[in-house]
Amino acid sequence: MRRLCDHSEGTSVLEIITYPHPTLRYRSKPIQRVDNELRQIVAKMFELMYEAKGIGLAANQVDLPLRLFVCNLTAEPNPAEEHVFINPVIDRPRGSEEGEEGCLSLPGLYAPVVRPATVRVKAYDLAGTLFDADVDGLFGRVIQHETDHLDGVLFIDRLTEMRRHDVAGALGEFELEFRSRREQGGIGSDEQILARLAEWEARYC
Ligand code: ZN
Repeated sequence: MRRLCDHSEGTSVLEIITYPHPTLRYRSKPIQRVDNELRQIVAKMFELMYEAKGIGLAANQVDLPLRLFVCNLTAEPNPAEEHVFINPVIDRPRGSEEGEEGCLSLPGLYAPVVRPATVRVKAYDLAGTLFDADVDGLFGRVIQHETDHLDGVLFIDRLTEMRRHDVAGALGEFELEFRSRREQGGIGSDEQILARLAEWEARYC
């Protein structure tokens, strides 16, 4: 069985998991400490996000129960545009706006999602500094989408009933594909996955 926490393997085995992998439904607890390994995980998450041409990636999406996400709206490697949000908390929602969303854990699926137009986010960066910002537009949307991930929420959960009906077929295909990969032994049982997440939690949360 593959063990992500095996130091001999480092972070090279991290990969983006797809719906309906159970870790995507996991509600992560706050991170209590940042060490070198966590910094390596963050670097690897940026790498995976760029490879997949994404603009945000949450730790759940690389099968880790850590309350953090990375984001770069340009989708191009550039440290000046890279943001790391550790233990983000969102409040002060204002207004309402519909916008098209996609997700690296649901590749190829896009649908309009209604969210608050503006929110305030508070989070820690990798250096442990607390920051807060009022965010709107695409940045605000990405921050809300990624914070949802840390609570085990996916954008498909926020669709209207009609939109949900539209994507039901695509979700069914993801579910079939997942089941077949699991039967081939590519994905552990729910119990194995939860045991692995508990090991990570014991170290960081
Ligand atoms: Zn997503």
